[in-house]
Amino acid sequence: MAVKTAWPVGHSCGHDEDHDLSEKRPSERAGYARWLAGRECSDCWRAKRDRQNAKDREKWQAERRAEETAAAQAWERSAEMPALEGGSDKAVEWGRRVRYQLVLAAHDHAFGIGVSDDDFAEQVETPARKITAASWWIDQRDAAGEDVAELVQDGATDLAETGNENPY
Ligand SMILES: [Zn+2]
Repeated sequence: MAVKTAWPVGHSCGHDEDHDLSEKRPSERAGYARWLAGRECSDCWRAKRDRQNAKDREKWQAERRAEETAAAQAWERSAEMPALEGGSDKAVEWGRRVRYQLVLAAHDHAFGIGVSDDDFAEQVETPARKITAASWWIDQRDAAGEDVAELVQDGATDLAETGNENPY
């Protein structure tokens, strides 16, 4: 009688799974099946790995966010950007990161087409300083660098008009 190739294994997680051990030498199958029994079944192992991956991804994202917030803060100081307001702390932090990314993207674009620093300051930075609502920035988060100048000018104009209607 040949040594069987399909081994039912009761895994440590409590699940039973049949394993095809035909690739193993006949004399190694029993030992291998015992070794498998000390481990979780493949479904549980996969689920655990997925949970770990998700956790690693979250940690990685949190670290990136912290780095970006730090970079945004340094930039805010050098560019004299005002604090953002409105919403939760989380929304304000998000708005700050978006503002930083957008102005950076706008600068890359402007630099690429030869816009001078003075023109960039006038077309992007000055209007950007007038927009302090975190939600406005968050709304523009998917904008392309080439569109930022138009957006901030529009946003700043909007605020100016609202300001004119207000007698105070
Ligand atoms: Zn299992």
